[in-house]
Order: sequence, then structure tokens, then C-alpha cells
Amino acid sequence: VKFTELGLGEEVLRAIEDMGFENPSDIQRDAIPVLMEGHDLIGQAQTGTGKTLAFGAPILSGMEKTRGQIKAIMLTPTRELAIQVSEELKRISKYKGIKTTAVYGGSSIQDQIRAIKSNTDIVVGTPGRVLDLIRRRVIRLENIEYLVLDEADEMLNMGFLDDIEEIVRNCNEDRQTLLFSATMPDRIKALARNYMKPDLKHVK
Ligand code: AMP
Repeated sequence: VKFTELGLGEEVLRAIEDMGFENPSDIQRDAIPVLMEGHDLIGQAQTGTGKTLAFGAPILSGMEKTRGQIKAIMLTPTRELAIQVSEELKRISKYKGIKTTAVYGGSSIQDQIRAIKSNTDIVVGTPGRVLDLIRRRVIRLENIEYLVLDEADEMLNMGFLDDIEEIVRNCNEDRQTLLFSATMPDRIKALARNYMKPDLKHVK
């Protein structure tokens, strides 16, 4: 299977070519068509499998730039992962004019507020800082199209469940939800049952 056979948009395909990737990884081959069809998805995948592109490419393919609205929120357990994901999204979106901002604790919130207010389309961040920005009304999620929970098992291990639930309650119902986790303990299954559509797809 080639990247061109997965239904991705032309600008995203061009960016993937620039990144030098020849063939989709297993998770990309299986997840991208499902996401392009609009399904919620559980991806059981570790870091290093290409999962960032597996969710980034279809989300960016379907995204149109409109000023002043956050269209996707992506939660990660650590600041390092937030930065890594946002860097990969910037590479994938280079021909689309989509703006991504990473937010995390231990760094100036004022700089992050400025970045979000200058028309960011996607926010990638750690749950505590994202929640702080929601409470300050800087991040508004009532019109988002995508919610991504990356390394969900790690986020639960780090005690972020309450923060995640409060963030999800701020999101509109009519969104696509993606959950990535290396393991599938009961607490992850409960998260999926509570916050994802019943016809979600599961890929490994
Ligand atoms: P991830 O699992 O998303 O952290 O990705 C692991 C690494 O693999 C990153 O450096 C990606 O840029 C790279 N990568 C992602 N997809 C592919 C692909 N299809 N072919 C080669 N490398 C890839």
C-alpha cells in the first residue's frame, strides 16, 4: 500500500514526500482510511510506530484554515511529547497554512496565550496546562472537530484522569475522538465507553 492510496489530501501527500517517507507504517495503513471516513478510533500503538503521522495526516487533510477557532485539541502526558507532536504536525501541514501551538507547564503561560490568540488551529498540550487555559477562556473547545488523547495509558498513570474528563466535558459532542494507548487496561476502556462513539474502530 502507498500513501497515495489512503485518501489523503494533495498538500499533505506532498509534505509526506518531503519528509522522505516512502511507505506507510502498519498503524498508518490501517488507521488513516478509517479516520478519513470520520470514525472514532482507538489505536493500540507504541511510540516509534509512526502513530503521530497516523492521526496527524488525516486530521490535517480534512482541515480548512478559518481564523480564530481551535479545530483540534491533542493531549499528551509530557511536555516533550507535546513538542514532538507539534513539530511533526508542522512538517505535515507545511503546504496548508495550518498553525499548531504546543502548551505545557513550566514555561511562560503569557507566551502560550499570545501564540493561541494569533489564530492557532491546533493546540497540543499537557492536560494541566490545557485546563488552566480553558479556565482562563483562552482555549475554547465548543467548536472543535478533533480530540486526540495520545499515550492515554501514560496520562492515566500520571494522574491526569480528572483533568482529561474536565477537558472532554468542554468539547462539543459533534467531534471525532482518537485515543492512542500502548496498553488497554479497564480504565482506558471506560474512557472510550464514556467519551467515544459506540461505532468506534480499533486498530493495532
Ligand atoms: P512516532 O511513532 O509518531 O513517534 O514516529 C516515530 C518516527 O518515525 C518519527 O521520527 C517519524 O517522523 C518517523 N516516521 C513516521 N512515519 C514514517 C514512515 N511512514 N516511514 C518512515 N518513518 C516514519
